[in-house]
Amino acid sequence: MTIPVLKQSPALAPQPADPLDHLADALFHRMGADGVYARTALYEAVVERLAALISRHRDDNTEVMRFPPVMSRAQLEKSGYLKSFPNLLGCVCGLHGSERDINDAVRRFDAGGDWTSSLSPADLVLSPAACYPVYPIAASRGPLPVGGLRFDVAADCFRREPSRHLDRLQSFRMREYVCIGTPDDVAAFRERWMDRAQGLARTLGLSFRVDHASDPFFGRVGQIKAVSQKQQALKFELLIPLRSEEQPTACMSFNYHREHFGTTWGITDANGEPAHTGCVAFGMDRLAVALFHTHGTDLARWPVQVREALELAQPAPMIG
Ligand code: 5GP
Ligand code: ZN
Repeated sequence: MTIPVLKQSPALAPQPADPLDHLADALFHRMGADGVYARTALYEAVVERLAALISRHRDDNTEVMRFPPVMSRAQLEKSGYLKSFPNLLGCVCGLHGSERDINDAVRRFDAGGDWTSSLSPADLVLSPAACYPVYPIAASRGPLPVGGLRFDVAADCFRREPSRHLDRLQSFRMREYVCIGTPDDVAAFRERWMDRAQGLARTLGLSFRVDHASDPFFGRVGQIKAVSQKQQALKFELLIPLRSEEQPTACMSFNYHREHFGTTWGITDANGEPAHTGCVAFGMDRLAVALFHTHGTDLARWPVQVREALELAQPAPMIG
């Protein structure tokens, strides 16, 4: 008689370790959902120093604005988000009924049932990128001055793509510089920032390459949009090999929206033409993870040049 060899079923096979997993304990605390993490003081200190470094490179005449993690649903709808990424959007919902409706929902929950069937959408969505709210604000100021306008914006962003990978969060921080002006204003802005951002990445000791990119447009029609975006060179990304050289992680993006937001919001440039817009986005969480992945979790052992660029030798900011 032969003893049957027990094959491990795929469901029981241990998950292969992800190359970033070793960082988890030093940087994050789990909060019960993939891609949504509490951050340690060590991690947050680096995010703050990185934010300060990016601020030190800000162009003159740039207006600073900070946005909350939610924005007007109507504004995001008008921006065309549902045509491109409906699958990623998070919408705020609430119990909007009468006192009786709301009590019924809570009672259903108390009895082990489902209270969420009573939810209805609010007039807010979770911001999927930091720059969407800036265009209607710029539009409200009237025609653009010669040279256009520049903004420094940031927000906690949400994209509904749960993942266990530490470089794909559902809730992450995005910092952006935005230019609104003539096609030439925006081209010069993007050119300047693609150069400056690579200088920053080099100073931070990160290996990277910059490449043409496309957004993850939804569905089959989306694939056509992605090809066209690449052909028109509307998006570039700064890619860092966090898990492999073949599938590097986009840590910054350099975007040209042509006249999309200018037309949508009725922004005109100094010549009376629809304004063109562009933005450079820094994924603060991805850049911080990239720094820890590259240099380790002991800040004292980071290369001197990196410590100096981040002013890490100075007293740490208070995290209270
Ligand atoms: P984009 O609008 O170009 O898709 O995103 C701008 C930047 O936000 C990206 O370059 C990246 O650094 C950051 N980002 C986008 N998606 C995620 C994500 O799922 N997790 C994290 N941590 N950052 C992201
Ligand atoms: Zn943007």
